[in-house]
Amino acid sequence: MTEWWHELPLTALDAQQWEALCDGCARCCLHKLEDVDTGEVYYTGVRCRHLDETACRCGDYANRSVLVPHCLDLRAQDIAALRWLPATCAYRLRAEGRPLPEWHHLVSGDRETVHTAGMSIRGRAVSDEFVHPDGYDEHIIHWVE
Ligand code: SF4
Ligand code: SF4
Repeated sequence: MTEWWHELPLTALDAQQWEALCDGCARCCLHKLEDVDTGEVYYTGVRCRHLDETACRCGDYANRSVLVPHCLDLRAQDIAALRWLPATCAYRLRAEGRPLPEWHHLVSGDRETVHTAGMSIRGRAVSDEFVHPDGYDEHIIHWVE
């Protein structure tokens, strides 16, 4: 069987394949802080309020860019230039020509393995409804790189 996710470049994926490539970790829906001096990006455990954390899916995917103006349509971006994407992000891995990990659902055949492998944010984040932006630095985490 052809493993299109390993054979095709991102630019050759159709819409269905593009969506299927997402591992469902929801790490990209965590707020990030950037050190203005070094450019280093720090992940926080504060998540977007529109995320369904149990499912690790956006609660309103079709309107996400309207609800959250800085929420990007990744397909319109140069993935390789998005340094803030987690190192485990399937789009980043493929943009770098690297294989998907064994816990990715396309490899494992199971959408739950991203969670059982501890790679998603399920049960680990707090909604930004409950944290003032000035306090995000108190929620810096180190389990996302
Ligand atoms: S970090 Fe990448 S793979 Fe994970 S949910 Fe976000 S877009 Fe999908
Ligand atoms: S709007 Fe949806 S996709 Fe965008 S950060 Fe929030 S939960 Fe994630």
